[in-house]
Formats: sequence, C-alpha cells, structure tokens
Amino acid sequence: MMRYSREQQATEFVDSIIKRERCLWCRDPSRVVYRKGLCRPCYEKGAQLKRAQKLLSDLKSRGKSIPFEVKHQADVLREAITDCKELGIVLDRVLQGGDSPLDLEWDLCWLSRRICRKDLFKGMATQLGWVLGPGHRRFLRALIWRIISVDASRHRIGRALSQLHRKALSSKEGAR
Ligand SMILES: [Zn+2]
Repeated sequence: MMRYSREQQATEFVDSIIKRERCLWCRDPSRVVYRKGLCRPCYEKGAQLKRAQKLLSDLKSRGKSIPFEVKHQADVLREAITDCKELGIVLDRVLQGGDSPLDLEWDLCWLSRRICRKDLFKGMATQLGWVLGPGHRRFLRALIWRIISVDASRHRIGRALSQLHRKALSSKEGAR
C-alpha cells in the first residue's frame, strides 16, 4: 500500500476541491450547483436582479419616474453579486497556487482582527514558511477562506450598502 506524506494529503484535499463542480460565481465547494452553473443563493440573487432591471427598463420606456426603492434594490443586488464573485476569485487563487507564507499571514491576521480586533500574527510569514510546507499552507488557507466566505455571506447586504454609500460619497467629492 502506498503511504502518503502529510504534505501530499493536504495537496490532495485541495486538488479534490479544484476538481469538484462548483458555482460559477461564489465557487463555494460546500454548495451544490443548482441551475445554470450557479448555486441556489447565487441563482436567486441573479434572478432578483434580472427582475429589478426589467422593472427599471419598463418604467423608463413608459416615461415614468423611477422610485428610489426600485433603483436602490437593483444597486444593492448588483453590489452583493460583485462581492460574491470577488470572493470566488479569491478562493480560486488560493486553490490554484495560494501557498505564499505572506498570504497565509494576512489570512490569519484577518481572522484575529475579526475575532479579537488585533493583528496577532503580523510578521509571522517567515516562520509560517519554515514550519508549514506549501501543501499545508494552501490547505490552511482554503479552510480560512471558508470562514471568510460564511462571514461575508452573512454580512453581504450590509457590505453592499456600505459600498454603495462609499461610492455615493466619492462621486459627490468628485463633483465638487
Ligand atoms: Zn454560488
């Protein structure tokens, strides 16, 4: 029987995620693909946005004024979808080659800031590079991504709102 090293096992775990069929937007390995290559939450967000956009264009073509809520809903959904896709790109990068000790340090700092509001692991990259092999670092980053992803999805609408708020402020600044 062939014996795998721990490093190989870690690599195999990550490779098994890469091979899995995953949602085209969020890329989350724990979600089942539902329709049109998307998981259910992503598909539903996309469908809601389509409905909101159709309503907007109907109102426009009939020369009606656009209620704030309708435009706002479309903007929030668009931001939420962008946020989701961006996180998916991050996971793909982690899975493909995300074994940099510096990136792992960044992920651990994100986690510690989130839990105890402190950068507990700042400056640890060299040590992480010594202690863990590339396969382990990729494996660990894939696990941390999962925490980041669940956290992001829980706060997605709030994040979309603050992103919209920031954009509105900076366009006001630009117009001055
Ligand atoms: Zn998805």
